Amino acid sequence: MTIQNLIRPSIKALKPYSSARDEFKGGTENLIFLDANENPFENGVNRYPDPKQGKLKALISQIKDVPTEHILLGNGSDEVLDLLIRMFCEPNKDNILILPPTYGMYEVLANVNAVETIKINLSEETFQPKTAAVLAAANANSKLLFLCSPNNPSGNSFEASSIEFLLKNFKGIVIIDEAYIDFSKEESWLSRLSEFPNLVVTQTLSKAFGMAGIRLGMCFASEEIIATLNKIKPPYNINELTQAKAIEGLSEMALINLQIACLLDEREDLIKALEEVYFIKKVYPSDANFVMVKVDDANKRYQQLIENGIVIRNRTTQPLCENCLRLTVGTKEENQRLVENFKRL
Ligand SMILES: *Cc1c(COP(=O)(O)O)cnc(C)c1O
Repeated sequence: MTIQNLIRPSIKALKPYSSARDEFKGGTENLIFLDANENPFENGVNRYPDPKQGKLKALISQIKDVPTEHILLGNGSDEVLDLLIRMFCEPNKDNILILPPTYGMYEVLANVNAVETIKINLSEETFQPKTAAVLAAANANSKLLFLCSPNNPSGNSFEASSIEFLLKNFKGIVIIDEAYIDFSKEESWLSRLSEFPNLVVTQTLSKAFGMAGIRLGMCFASEEIIATLNKIKPPYNINELTQAKAIEGLSEMALINLQIACLLDEREDLIKALEEVYFIKKVYPSDANFVMVKVDDANKRYQQLIENGIVIRNRTTQPLCENCLRLTVGTKEENQRLVENFKRL
């Protein structure tokens, strides 16, 4: 298996759009820019943003200890996942593998691109990948395998040995979606990038980093994969305000780490309190900033909470999640109100 053989022929042949900011590679000092048809009157956003996000990537590179050539940024991870499908999957021919119950966007993005989704459910109750079944379900047109670890909505991490087995034996790209990795006791797969040419890791500023509103997703992979993604991404996909706010937020790592520690304490308290609610049959272990619980009647309990002004996520229609609710860990006060409401029902 080579990466080049997995890339769509039309993408391999593509000559990318060259933006004004791509073509002029000099500095910005004392220059007059009349190349991009911008409005010259300064208001903070009248210029196009840096298409390569140099400053922001340098900061992310330092925080994640990954060289910038291995990083692609997207308008949320959702854009990154869409770019990966478009880079590797030929519409009406190729397919992706997903392991339900999992993040709903993988299948939606595949559908948008006319790419088939093959589903291999996780094992019941433990929500671990059934590795032999995954490999058995794959065929010559299976380009991408999505592993969400920690998994949304079940909250658990996949066993490292299972992930490693799939990385070694799946004959396509393995995308590990680490949206919740900063809440996990497991190590990120970022440190193993150089070992596996077919490994892609995605992360986001939307969860632990507290910046869901700016839409910034991160993709880490080999230089070869990143170079091709750079060819197909919209030239100015990360806007100026997002780049500036991300740099500001990421310069406060001490604060972010404090918030993560606080949420992990809260998660522990919340789990203990939920175990005492009579209609909660099971509280699943969590490696993320949410907890999945199995209740007597998910639709009824969901509705009752809404009537009390608390919105949670009802996951009862998901495979293996009958009567399951997903609860995000909030502030101490929010979590206490959630538990009080549960106990009053
Ligand atoms: C929330 C979440 C994301 C984040 O998506 P963004 O587009 O970066 O906000 C990605 N994957 C999973 C599994 C998620 O739960």
